[in-house]
Amino acid sequence: MKPEFVPLAPDARRLPLRRGDMLNAYLLGDVLVDAGVRAGARKVLRALEGERVAAHAITHGHFDHQGASHALCQALGIPLWCGAGEKEAVESGDFTRLLPKPRSLAARVEQLLSGPAHPVARVLRQGDEVGAGFVVLETPGHTAGSISFWREADGVLVLGDAAMSRHPWTGRRGLQEPVGLGTLDRELNRASLRRLAELRPAIVCFGHGEPLTEPMRFRAFVAGLSLPD
Ligand SMILES: [Zn+2]
Ligand SMILES: [Zn+2]
Repeated sequence: MKPEFVPLAPDARRLPLRRGDMLNAYLLGDVLVDAGVRAGARKVLRALEGERVAAHAITHGHFDHQGASHALCQALGIPLWCGAGEKEAVESGDFTRLLPKPRSLAARVEQLLSGPAHPVARVLRQGDEVGAGFVVLETPGHTAGSISFWREADGVLVLGDAAMSRHPWTGRRGLQEPVGLGTLDRELNRASLRRLAELRPAIVCFGHGEPLTEPMRFRAFVAGLSLPD
């Protein structure tokens, strides 16, 4: 079945890739943000039929966001963009370095599931403007090169896996921090979340889970994360 885009705001749509909201990609203007898993490339291509897509960006290089990137960029003839900290992994195809323990079983599984290497046409940096009025925010922590997309005009924030509203493995709902096993630096990620909360986003969009449209809940969640000693 062809997955259908869910509108979020003008020129901003969510593409549900697994069981409604377990895994999401986004179309921000003509930029496809995240790609889903390697095996899902055809599904994304079907959803994009008739859409104008000029570039593909990833919030970070984990397999569930980058897996289909190579196939999509090839099929659509579009460039791949990512944060500075992900470039080496994306271009070399060695994704173990994105995880806190590159020699762990988790890193080996990550590597196994990741998509092929692909050249990065543009490194996205803080303040870069992309698709339909969004700017790039560098939000490291989950991985070194994690980035978010922010549109101040209507408060739409796409933050990748800096936080999630559904657990990607268990399906548990509710605002939560990303899984520790796959997160490079939890304190750094919390610092990024605090900066995001200060923006007072109206709609917070996650890689995993339904978007959150209650700004106070996001701010309360972030405020409740303990500070380092
Ligand atoms: Zn991730
Ligand atoms: Zn993820």
